[in-house]
Amino acid sequence: MNLHNYLSTANLVKSLVLPLGYYYPLNKIFSNNQNYAVLCYHRISANNKLLKKNNPLSGLEVNQDIFEKQIKFLKNRFEILSLKQLKKHIEDKNKNFVISITFDDGYQDNINLALPVLEKYKVPAAIFVIARFLQKKDFMWWYFLWENLNKQKFIFIDTKKIEINNEKDIVNWFGVISKEVINLSYEDQKIYLYKIFGKEIDYNFKDLIFDFEQLVDLSKNELIEIGSHTLTHAKLTSLNNSEIFNELKYSKEILEEKINKKVDFLAYPYGSQNEVNSQIIQIAKEVGYQMAFSTKRQFQQTDIFFDVPRYNIDNTVEKKRLLSKINGFEDFLYNFKKIFI
Ligand SMILES: [Zn+2]
Repeated sequence: MNLHNYLSTANLVKSLVLPLGYYYPLNKIFSNNQNYAVLCYHRISANNKLLKKNNPLSGLEVNQDIFEKQIKFLKNRFEILSLKQLKKHIEDKNKNFVISITFDDGYQDNINLALPVLEKYKVPAAIFVIARFLQKKDFMWWYFLWENLNKQKFIFIDTKKIEINNEKDIVNWFGVISKEVINLSYEDQKIYLYKIFGKEIDYNFKDLIFDFEQLVDLSKNELIEIGSHTLTHAKLTSLNNSEIFNELKYSKEILEEKINKKVDFLAYPYGSQNEVNSQIIQIAKEVGYQMAFSTKRQFQQTDIFFDVPRYNIDNTVEKKRLLSKINGFEDFLYNFKKIFI
């Protein structure tokens, strides 16, 4: 089947089947009878401030008014559970289809812009934070990289001087450099980026991530659960076992000490098939987590509680698309495409 035929068939199937989703729980057909869907958010943006679509970081953002529409829509249709309740729901094999909401990285806007919406609709959510970033001494490579590619007129790749002339160059080099940086340990990321930009890491992201004091406040909110997103947001599959152990164990301990509560949930950094494996899952169990979350598709799940799939939600996900993610129809199309193209 060629691409054009596929797309028109897919669109036809979509337009016929999707509206049914409003009346019939499609997840029963498409998602292996899974009785939940977990959504993964990152940042909520003020309505007048949204990154341009070509910005590779725009996939991390949802406008506050769109976020509110999504939450209202979900709240009207589904029961929304905390992760603690979700675990019980899965254990009990409860047949009702439920939703859980999560946020990764611990962005300041989760407090300023997401929390008011969650409180308005009384919707619980979990926030996965990066323990070392809360000290505000460290940097997020993805924002550092984007900021500096925009600021500098040239970069050094393998000591070769390369000019950055326009937006296309910036987006292109962001992609190329990201692929390298993601595989490095946190300390090596700093060295690598220093060589590229010819200067020390100076990016101040104090306004981007909340701090320990805010974390403690947040942890007292009955709608919010705090989870670990590791110590340094390293890609765990590029670390050895003792490094993985440290990332999972020390982040848990640091957070528990600060908030004076158990931290039972973990979100693997990046979280796709390339970033989660059975070794890491084993260590997460040993360290004492109760559940761990990936960003895999449902059919890629390898462990009932330690490889829980999540759907990434960005600003383009309107109601129908939200439903088609939740009910597994998007996964169905993904497989359909693999078979027929
Ligand atoms: Zn993350």
